[in-house]
Amino acid sequence: MISNIIPILKTLDKTAEPTMLDAYKDRSPFELLVMTLLSARTKDATVIPIALKLYKTHNRPEHFVSMQDDILAKKLYGIGFHNTKAKHIIKLSKILIDKYNGEVPRTMHKLVELPGVGRKTANCILSYCFNIPAIAVDTHVHRICNKERLNWINTKTVKDTERELMRVVPKRLWVEVNRLIVDHGQRVCAPIKPKCQQCSITAYCATFDDNR
Ligand code: SF4
Repeated sequence: MISNIIPILKTLDKTAEPTMLDAYKDRSPFELLVMTLLSARTKDATVIPIALKLYKTHNRPEHFVSMQDDILAKKLYGIGFHNTKAKHIIKLSKILIDKYNGEVPRTMHKLVELPGVGRKTANCILSYCFNIPAIAVDTHVHRICNKERLNWINTKTVKDTERELMRVVPKRLWVEVNRLIVDHGQRVCAPIKPKCQQCSITAYCATFDDNR
């Protein structure tokens, strides 16, 4: 194991703020699945109010199955790719009812068969909803864990990042990688102008710059 993984995660945990999935992890697996799907290429701050408003009337698969795409798309207006995401939510609701008795499945291969659900979303659901160890790799996790920043891994693709992180991070910390690194990426370690002067883990970073 890489020796600084535990100190870095412990340090980040001292100042961490809840990410969207962390803040809403008590909601149902279906609600979290829809929220995660909606958050693709859209900021959590945009997704959260729209999703919470939607859930006042629609928060179970049976609420979506007979909906028209354009009616749902209208409710999702403001979220990136809302037309496509509306279609996916309606289709996946039908599949959940037809194949899984309205429940969200608990395995990677069944989750990624659902429309609009990739490995990142599936790993979020496995870990946050079902406490199954998984590392959800988004753009923040991919960038920050790689050689230009924390140098835990040296990978080009998100899929390779997931595989390598599973190799170097102890299994009991897999969920923490997503929770803490996503929060760090959203608030401090941005892709273009990271706020290095506000960073608590500069001692471990390959590109710390005290002018930033
Ligand atoms: S020192 Fe800067 S680049 Fe490195 S992890 Fe901290 S914010 Fe990111």
